[in-house]
Amino acid sequence: MDLTLLERTLADRGEPAFRARQVWEWTARGAAGYEEMTNLSRPLRAVLDESVPFSSLTFEDEATSADGTVKVLFRTADGHPVEAVLMRYRDGRRSACVSSQSGCPLTCTFCATGSMRFGRNLTASEILDQVLHFRRVEPLNHLVFMGMGEPLLNYDEVLGAACRLPDVGITHRRTTISTIGWMPGLKRFVDEVEQPIRLAISLHGADPRLRSELMPVNDRYPLPSVLDECRRYFELRHRKVFVEYVMLAGVNDSLEQATELVALLDPKVFKVNLIPYNPTGFFEGSSRDAIDRFKGVLDRARIPSTVRLTRGRDIAAACGQLAVTR
Ligand code: SAH
Repeated sequence: MDLTLLERTLADRGEPAFRARQVWEWTARGAAGYEEMTNLSRPLRAVLDESVPFSSLTFEDEATSADGTVKVLFRTADGHPVEAVLMRYRDGRRSACVSSQSGCPLTCTFCATGSMRFGRNLTASEILDQVLHFRRVEPLNHLVFMGMGEPLLNYDEVLGAACRLPDVGITHRRTTISTIGWMPGLKRFVDEVEQPIRLAISLHGADPRLRSELMPVNDRYPLPSVLDECRRYFELRHRKVFVEYVMLAGVNDSLEQATELVALLDPKVFKVNLIPYNPTGFFEGSSRDAIDRFKGVLDRARIPSTVRLTRGRDIAAACGQLAVTR
């Protein structure tokens, strides 16, 4: 729902200021349409139906994985494709993975989104409408900004959406923003965000040459400055930073490379998430053995780490697989 349009429409009709909040509360709790909002008059509901589309995104397609993961393709009003994913876990966790941009202007070599055409930044409402779509299916408790796009290139809209998530039932502690380390946005995040929203950094290579090959943005914002900013975050906010590291066979998964990674990370500040590579056609994923050996090096250095559970690979809904060519 375009919340700016909603507020304008209500104000134009001389409605009291709390009306927008009422509509938002119904929507955030999973209402399917204005007709359910029984504390609004019937004529007002009819006006909203006419002038404020219930979602700013059009549902276009859906795929369900054998593991229960659902991927949805939406279209913005001006025709840009947007994908979002709902992950279901056995322990009851329901996690939405949302896009912050249609496509992505960055060109990380292992990520399919980087190879599709970049559209534009999404608005806060378009980001929330991905979440609300899933909220109408079932209650959610986690959210990650790990879909298409670089969230910190779209700082204001991403934070605007993130701040409304508690109304949808997702606390800040269960909200994670993942970034390649876009410094202008990262600095603002560290300086400004007092809510306990979690921060994840896509690292993928400790050696500067290798990281620049995998993620060309490293030439612009070199890793040491990004990690300094993460330490500043830890000092200010006392929250650990997650490091994401996609495991690419023969590229970044050797024991020497694990040792290089250890040398960069302070066990007090960082927690590593090793991500099995999801096929996008460019690399081979590391074997389970190679991942375990790499993790062993981190364990011995007492750097906390986990291996990410892969979800939705069979429907190309896993990390790095979101790309729409239509
Ligand atoms: N642009 C942000 C948000 C996207 S998050 C960022 O990169 O952090 C998506 C996560 O999945 C990132 O950590 C990304 O590096 C990782 N990823 C990308 N392609 C992948 C692939 N093919 N297999 C596994 N993980 C991948």
